[in-house]
Amino acid sequence: MKNTRHKIRIAFYSVLVGVTLTGIKIAVGLLSGSLGILSEALHSLLDLVAALITFISVRISEKPPDEQHPYGHGKIENLSALAEALLLLARSEDDQFSPIGASRLGAGHYFVSSFAT
Ligand SMILES: [Zn+2]
Repeated sequence: MKNTRHKIRIAFYSVLVGVTLTGIKIAVGLLSGSLGILSEALHSLLDLVAALITFISVRISEKPPDEQHPYGHGKIENLSALAEALLLLARSEDDQFSPIGASRLGAGHYFVSSFAT
């Protein structure tokens, strides 16, 4: 299906951009020794994970129905959307508006940030 091909291509570009951004930020962070940029790299890494989840789920959802999944594989996109929503909640930790409190991830980010500033 053309529409699905299109979705897969866009998801693939998102992963490419994520890899590039994360790579650059890690490199600059390490070269400059800036913990601020390294914590920014952690943000990009989480975005990259979200992009990967999207890419994988869009590819799986394209598969035709089989014996285990007689209604097809489209529902995986709903599951991946849920996973990404949870990732965004974890990521919003540093804004102090996260509804899930101080997760380990958020606490780690605070730790890094407090050294950077
Ligand atoms: Zn299946």
